Amino acid sequence: MMSIDILLAKVKEYNEKEIEKVKKAYEFAERLHKGQTRQSGEPYIVHPLNVAYILAEMHADADTLCAGLLHDTLEDTDTTKEEIANLFNPEVAKLVDGATKIRRMNFSSKSAQNYANTRKIITSLTEDVRIIIIKLADRLHNMRTLQFKSEFKQKENALETMEIFVPLAYQIGAYRIKQELEDLSFRYLKPDIYDHISAKRTIIERESEQCVKDMLEKIHAVLCDKQIPNEIKVRTKNIYGIYKKISRGDKISEIHDLLSLKILVDEIDDCYLALRPIHAMYHPVNRKFKDYIANPKTNMYQSLHTTVFGLDDRLVQLQLRTHDMDKVASFGLATYWDINKGRAREVMQEELKSKFQFYQSLLEINEVFRDNQAFIYQAKNEIFADKVYVYTPKGDVMELPKGATAIDFAYKIHTDVGNTMVGAIVNDRYVPVNYVLQNNDRVKIVTDELSYGARDSWEDMAKTTYAKRKIREFKTK
Ligand code: MN
Repeated sequence: MMSIDILLAKVKEYNEKEIEKVKKAYEFAERLHKGQTRQSGEPYIVHPLNVAYILAEMHADADTLCAGLLHDTLEDTDTTKEEIANLFNPEVAKLVDGATKIRRMNFSSKSAQNYANTRKIITSLTEDVRIIIIKLADRLHNMRTLQFKSEFKQKENALETMEIFVPLAYQIGAYRIKQELEDLSFRYLKPDIYDHISAKRTIIERESEQCVKDMLEKIHAVLCDKQIPNEIKVRTKNIYGIYKKISRGDKISEIHDLLSLKILVDEIDDCYLALRPIHAMYHPVNRKFKDYIANPKTNMYQSLHTTVFGLDDRLVQLQLRTHDMDKVASFGLATYWDINKGRAREVMQEELKSKFQFYQSLLEINEVFRDNQAFIYQAKNEIFADKVYVYTPKGDVMELPKGATAIDFAYKIHTDVGNTMVGAIVNDRYVPVNYVLQNNDRVKIVTDELSYGARDSWEDMAKTTYAKRKIREFKTK
């Protein structure tokens, strides 16, 4: 069972003042929750301790760890934000308050309260992304211990996790949390399919174990021979990831990245240098090579992906990246706690604003939709739903919701481009303004200064909140 000693052992590299603060937060939370138990029968404090432990695994700063320990005190005990601010500091109080539900008495119905709280969680990203990370750690521990809840609660929580927390984890690049949340939820939503895929996966793992191990050793040896220091790990696709591929029509035996090799090197150049001897040994499938180092994903994931003809005539996916890229691939924005000690909080918020494309969409939706239910509907459709990724003429990757048209693209580039648009050239072919964008399209907007500007019909052709608003504004000018 989780205890303060296990948590303290985890944070022993923190400085003395920080460790003292964590201890103090524990003692305060322990006193407040005294007498409360979880459905498992354990004392309640075990839950906040686990949440803090998950945060400590991400090297969270001391304020965040304290907030993790205190995250349920405003909701379930009689302390106040002011008391936490006085005992600790205003930052800790702000984080705890951000992670706390708005009280039922402020709403006419349970569902109105739910909508307001979901909105609060999503928009806390714009205040302080650490609040989302605390909420993700909270949800992760709750999902890990969901067996003690009623069947109705299990399904309800699993669904909410899939709809809200999984996409949030993906958007900030926290793949490790995303994948665990997916599998935990999927297990409650479709238990039969979960067990079936899980059993099949074990069989395939066992069958290909030797082959994968041989490849790992051969690649390791050839890279050492070329003086490229490296560490290679076997990575297994999560159950829900396999399920998604199967529901698209793939056979489980044909999923090439069910097992893949993660090749970790020290320097970026080594990722590319390593390719030549590997491809000389195992031929690559040309069209499956992807350079996410030069073109990172919109959640900052970086890696080279190549699929090769492996031993036993199997196709095997290889992922090449540096150790730092691998940390980002596991924890996303939360990685800055580890690689930007002291300044992490500012860096996280800056990166989010400048590099993560969903951020502007979120601000826009938050501004336009006053009603909580409408806000959540739009956020699900525009930010959390499937995306398309297309190229600008310079090769920058643009993220848009699936179903977005050339109009959305034009307004995302610039309002003037949208307002003077007459058509677009997609993959060297002229298309109308309402062309629906497809993955990997190269898009160039055709403009004409003498164009009449946005037409009435465009608002319905646009999918994004931003483009729709710009079209409305043009019409009322
Ligand atoms: Mn909690």
